[in-house]
Amino acid sequence: MPLNDAVLDEAAAPQVREAEEGPRTESPQVWFDGRFIDAGSNGAPLTTHAMHYGSGVFEGIRAYATADGGSAVFRLPEHLERMRKGCELLGIPFDPAEATEATLQVLRRNRHRDAYVRPLAWCGTGSIGLDTAPLSKHLMVATFATNVHLAGVQVKLGTSSWRRNPSTSLPPLKLCGAYVNSILAKHEARQRGFNEALFVDDQGRVVECTGANVFMVRDGRITAVEHRDALAGITRDTVIALTGASARPVRHDELLDADEVFVVGTAAEVTPVDELDDRRFDNHLVSREVAREYQRVVRGESARHAHWLARV
Ligand code: PMP
Repeated sequence: MPLNDAVLDEAAAPQVREAEEGPRTESPQVWFDGRFIDAGSNGAPLTTHAMHYGSGVFEGIRAYATADGGSAVFRLPEHLERMRKGCELLGIPFDPAEATEATLQVLRRNRHRDAYVRPLAWCGTGSIGLDTAPLSKHLMVATFATNVHLAGVQVKLGTSSWRRNPSTSLPPLKLCGAYVNSILAKHEARQRGFNEALFVDDQGRVVECTGANVFMVRDGRITAVEHRDALAGITRDTVIALTGASARPVRHDELLDADEVFVVGTAAEVTPVDELDDRRFDNHLVSREVAREYQRVVRGESARHAHWLARV
C-alpha cells in the first residue's frame, strides 16, 4: 500500500511492518468469537450478511510502545463506547468488557507494541433478508504492527463532488456500509491526482475527510471544524483538550484562506495538509507542534494524560 494511503485511510491499517522484517515464523492471530485463529484463515462463510449489506461496525484503535518497554492502548474505552453505540443501532450485542479483554489478549499474543487494532462486530448467517434479528452475530479483533515513522508524507486534499452521508440518513458512527461513501470520495480524489478527499456540504461548509477530522490555524488560533455529519473523532477530542482549540462550523473558503490546515485521526494522528485544491500550505509550524505534543501523549510521556492509556 502506498505510504499516503496508509497514513490517511482509517479503514486501512498503517504500514504493516512484516514487509520490513521479512516473514514471521508464527502467523499473526486474530481473536474471533472467544478463540484465536490464524489471521489468514477463512473465518466467515460467503453468505455472511455483512459482506452483502455492510451490516457491521468497526473501530480503528492504536497501541503505542511506551518508554518502559511495554505498550498501551490509547483511549480504548472511548473507542469501544462508540462501537457499542453502532452495535446497538444494528441489533448486535456488544460487551465492551469482552472487547477490551480481546484487544489486550491479541496484542500480547501477537507481541505487537506499536500496533493498529481493528475490532469488527458483524451480522453473520441465518437469513438473506434485511432483518438482523435472526442472524448470527460475531466479533473479531485483529492487530497490525505499525511503522512509527510517518514523516515526509505530502497530503494533497481535493474537495469531493460527493456529499458526506447526512446524519439524518446514516449516523456518523463506524458502520461498515457507511464507508462506501468514503470509498467513493477517495476513488474520485485519486483519479483527480489527489491522495485524500475533503467533504463539504451543499452550503459550502467543511465536513471532514474520508477518515479524519479537519482543523485550521489562523493568526495562531486553532479551530476544530464542527459539522453534524462528521464523525465525533477521538483524536479531534484529544487535540481540542490538548490545545484549547475552539470548535465551530467552518466554510470551505475560510479553510482555503487559513495559514495552516491539518487533519487528525487514529491512523492519521496529526498530519499537516500540503495542498487543498489549488492552494499550497508551506507553513506547518503550529501543526507540527500539535503533532509533537500528540506523540508525547500517546506514548505515555505526559503524566497528566496517563488516564488515556490502557496498559497492555
Ligand atoms: N472521520 C472519519 C470518517 C473516520 O473514519 C475517522 C477515523 N475513525 C475519523 C474521522 C477520526 O476519528 P478518530 O480520531 O476517532 O480515529
